[in-house]
Amino acid sequence: MEDEAPHVAVLPSIGIGHLISLIEFSKKLVHHHNFHITLIIPTIGSPPDAMIEALHGLPSTINHIFLPPVQYEDMPKNDPTRLLIVKATSLSLSPLRQVIKSLSATTKLVSFIADAFAIDFVDVAEEFNVPWYVYLPLSAMCLSLLLYLPTLSELVSCEYRDLIEPVKLPGCIPIHGNDLFAGLQDHKSEYYQWLLSMTKRLPLAKGIMINSFRELEAGTIRVFQEKTLCKSPVYAIGPLVRMGTNNLDNDDVSNCLKWLDDQAQGSVILVSFGSGGTLSNEQMNELAFGLEMSEHSFLWVVKSPNNESVTGTYFSIQSQNDPFDFLPRGFLGRTEGRGLVMPSWAPQAHILSHASTGGFLTHCGWNSVSESIVNGVPMIAWPLFAEQKMNAVLLTNDIKVAIRPKVGENGLVVREEISEVVKNLMGGEERKRMCEVMSGLKEAAAKALAIDGDSSNALSELAMEWTNHKKID
Ligand code: UDP
Repeated sequence: MEDEAPHVAVLPSIGIGHLISLIEFSKKLVHHHNFHITLIIPTIGSPPDAMIEALHGLPSTINHIFLPPVQYEDMPKNDPTRLLIVKATSLSLSPLRQVIKSLSATTKLVSFIADAFAIDFVDVAEEFNVPWYVYLPLSAMCLSLLLYLPTLSELVSCEYRDLIEPVKLPGCIPIHGNDLFAGLQDHKSEYYQWLLSMTKRLPLAKGIMINSFRELEAGTIRVFQEKTLCKSPVYAIGPLVRMGTNNLDNDDVSNCLKWLDDQAQGSVILVSFGSGGTLSNEQMNELAFGLEMSEHSFLWVVKSPNNESVTGTYFSIQSQNDPFDFLPRGFLGRTEGRGLVMPSWAPQAHILSHASTGGFLTHCGWNSVSESIVNGVPMIAWPLFAEQKMNAVLLTNDIKVAIRPKVGENGLVVREEISEVVKNLMGGEERKRMCEVMSGLKEAAAKALAIDGDSSNALSELAMEWTNHKKID
């Protein structure tokens, strides 16, 4: 029998950060609008444990299906992570077709929601005549870039990083070309060509959702409402973030939370580069010494270093080698008591909501940034890849809730600089000012998500539209 609740297919792009954001989106639709969701998940290699954990304990009206994993062996060896994601998405089209075919035999799909970085999946929605929408699990600034890119690419003939003047994206603070999305930095690359085609397809969506909210990016969101950049409606429905962890019985997790309980309020800085971010050997060494020199308490989620890639654990999450083997000799002993080091993965959302956490050194992944904002925690912005430098510019130059360390000419952030920014983040006048702004944003985020808040209303509008699709045969 066909179920009564409107049924939506949700397609994250590859990577746990994207999945987490789309899980939170699905939960909203189920809890507030009684929808039925099928999450259809592509992966490269087997799904990591953290991904299984993120899917654990969801309501019964959120089903999930893993598409057959694309094997590493079937992928080109030297492509960057972002291009592997695009290629693996293409390889997953045929199994996706089978899934949509069997779902459509038992239920009417009222909409198909693809992550912007999995937009190639919408070929299948078109084949089955399901209206498709795009979810960008990122900022309004990033959407402004994507929608403006076809124009920008016509205007600029050199590489963006070589531009002297900052780029003026519609509704955004000026940004240096070097800080734009990493995937744009080589006009001739296969990825840039894919990105251009993606940005031309994006405005064909029936609607685009972003994980941001009005108080955070008012000017940019206003530009979308004017519909000059894109005729399709843009819905700011954020900040949708994970709260807490499903993994409280894990020993590492409970030890970490116990350790936090013993620290003074607001005294700990969380240090994490997300699910995939990795540092070089030398940089990891500088970070360890910098944290030690700062004399502040820290909780460091450490991965083993990678001298070739800043996305060393993007698909696997866990480090292959024991990260502790790469810490400076004697580091753990010297920082015992005021420092806790966790290998590879920690209950980040839970840590950020803990009263002892007072700062976050982050790679500026958008989920991490959003989790920091909903908990009112100021940041050190240390971007590594993707659109993270754009997020760093937004946080430091526009919203002013983060400090960005200086990168030396050799590409390293040295220990003295790290110690200095940690001291500034965790104490002094600069901290006071950032905490004030953060506390206003925390409140505004809660308001946006409350009943009748801007973000809730935007999602209700969409839910209504999809419910109406169900009624039309
Ligand atoms: N995360 C976590 N534990 C970790 C690292 C990351 O729970 O040790 C979660 C984090 O809370 C966030 C997501 O994984 O929800 C990472 O997404 P983000 O957009 O910040 O960065 P990405 O990992 O995609 O680069």
